[in-house]
Amino acid sequence: MAKAKSVATRAAPAHKTGVSTMHQEGIKPAAGSKPDAVVKEKAAGGRTAGGSAGGPTRRESKAARAARAAEIVERLASAYPGVATELCALVHGDPFELLVATILSAQCTDERVNLVAPSVFARYPTPEDLAGAEPGELEDLIRSTGFFRAKAQSLIGMARAVSERFGGEIPRALEDLVTLPGVGRKTGNVVRSVAFSLPGLPVDTHVLRLSRRLGLTSETDPVKVESDLCALVAEEAWGALSLRLILHGRQVCVARSPRCGICILADRCPSAQPAAGTPAPRSGVPKAR
Ligand code: SF4
Repeated sequence: MAKAKSVATRAAPAHKTGVSTMHQEGIKPAAGSKPDAVVKEKAAGGRTAGGSAGGPTRRESKAARAARAAEIVERLASAYPGVATELCALVHGDPFELLVATILSAQCTDERVNLVAPSVFARYPTPEDLAGAEPGELEDLIRSTGFFRAKAQSLIGMARAVSERFGGEIPRALEDLVTLPGVGRKTGNVVRSVAFSLPGLPVDTHVLRLSRRLGLTSETDPVKVESDLCALVAEEAWGALSLRLILHGRQVCVARSPRCGICILADRCPSAQPAAGTPAPRSGVPKAR
C-alpha cells in the first residue's frame, strides 16, 4: 500500500501530548476501579464547576460563557502553541501509524508507546501486513505497553477491517472510524484531528475534568462533553484545544491539587482556588464551591 503523506515529526518535545491513555476504547481498567476522572475529582474535594456544587453553568448566560470560552481558547493557544499535528506527542508517520500508536497508548505513557511503536511499524508497515500478523509475535512486540493481548487483538482486527472494507486506507469519517475494532469516538477524533487535520475533539479524562472545572460543561458523559465543547468552539480549533487541555491538565490543572496560583486561566475559571489569605471574590464569575 502506498503510504499517506507524513503528518508528524519524529521528535516529541516535552510540551507535546497524546490523548490521555486512560480508558482507551476496548481496554478496561482493573476490576473494581472507578473512572479516573471521578476518583480524582472526589479526591480533589469535588472541585468541579457545574457539578453538584453549581458554578457558572447556573447563572452565566450563553453569550457570556461563549465569550469566556473564547478567552480560554486564546490563552491556551498562547501557552501551548502549534496545530494539533505539532502538539501530538505520539510519534507517527501517517494515519495508519497514528492509529496503531493511539491503540497502543491505552493505559500506557506516550513515552513507552514511542519506544515500542517503531518496532511495530517496522515489522508491519501496512494494514495488510498487520492484518496477517501472528498474534503471539505481535503480543511480544507490544507486551511492555500493558494489556498486550487485548491490544494485539484490536490492532489485528483494525488492520483487517481497514484492508477488507476500506481498501487499505484509514477512513476519515468518524462514523467509519468507529466501526474499526478498538476504535471509539476518542481515538477516531484523534485520527481525524491529528492525522487528517479534520474537525475532531477527543475527550479524555483530562479534557473532561478541565471542561467541568472551567464551567464549560456540567456533563459527565464524554460524548455530551464533546458536544458542549464543540458548540462553544469553532471546529477548526477542536483538535488543538483537546491537546492543550490535556497539556494544561498534566502540568497545571492536575487532578488532585490544581495549581491555580500559577494558572493562566484563573481569572476565567469558576473553580479557581484563591491564594492563601485572599478572600473569595463576591462578584464576577461565580465560584463552583
Ligand atoms: S484556575 Fe486553572 S488550575 Fe485552577 S481549577 Fe481552574 S483551570 Fe484548574
